[in-house]
Amino acid sequence: EREALLKLKDEKDITLDGKEVGIYANIGSLDDLNSALYYGARGIGLLRSEFQYLGRESYPGEEELFQAYKKTAQTMGDRLVVIRTADLGADKQAAYLEIPQETNPLMGNRGIRFCLDRKNLFKTQIRAIYRASWYGNLGMMYPMISEEEEMDAIEELIREVKAELSSEGIPFKNIRTGIMMETPAAVMIGEELARRVDFLGIGTNDLTQYTLAMDRQNPLLQKKYNDHHPAVVRMIKMIIDAGHKENCKVCLCGELAADTRLTETFLRMGVDALSVVPACILPVRKALRAARVKNEDE
Ligand code: PEP
Ligand code: MG
Repeated sequence: EREALLKLKDEKDITLDGKEVGIYANIGSLDDLNSALYYGARGIGLLRSEFQYLGRESYPGEEELFQAYKKTAQTMGDRLVVIRTADLGADKQAAYLEIPQETNPLMGNRGIRFCLDRKNLFKTQIRAIYRASWYGNLGMMYPMISEEEEMDAIEELIREVKAELSSEGIPFKNIRTGIMMETPAAVMIGEELARRVDFLGIGTNDLTQYTLAMDRQNPLLQKKYNDHHPAVVRMIKMIIDAGHKENCKVCLCGELAADTRLTETFLRMGVDALSVVPACILPVRKALRAARVKNEDE
């Protein structure tokens, strides 16, 4: 069976009735790039950039960040690489970051909230991403967005970064930007948020835990934790519709994107891309190639 799957490495991501929906890879370090390429990922749909900040003693500098993004961009060539800006907080700690303890880190100062509090850290990362944009096909996506004001702040920072790079004579390309839809608040203002960006990424891991009000790591809730809950599935549909209304591509990039029991459902909802860990690319491709998106009479 594994051999049959491996034959799909170089096959297209296309349904039985001819719809193409790219399968991208989620990666958490540069080591995963090779397996993403090996399994024929269309690109990187989610690069969890926190890995550069965790498990170390001091801040990564702009040059170090830049070199890593540049290498990723060059390795992937024309293929899109979406860098998710740092998703740090009391739930993802390193001593030098001096993040205060919180009683409820998952509801706390994490993701974009943390980055907008630490403007220097955030600006350094955005500068590194823009510098690397010159060397490939980069996108940039923001975690844990829950209000439009966060987008105002990000847009202002991007304007600053671009102006600085221009005046320093450093080349960059325009980067496609995206919002991770992973809080119920973001879903409810999906159209307003979609107007701000080029694409939406659906983070089903956080979206599920916030929608069900269940910590995804709590062992006591493991049996009750149902990511097929109709509330979650309907939210996904709402995000896809809001995105399409505002001309955004919508990529599903939480773990649920790899759940082949739902592949056909997602495709019928109109999802434009799926992003999964490299090891799941082939099983998802198999399910996608066996799915139909249109009804018989259409
Ligand atoms: C998610 O929340 O679904 C997601 C993709 O991000 P992370 O798992 O890194 O929080
Ligand atoms: Mg998340």
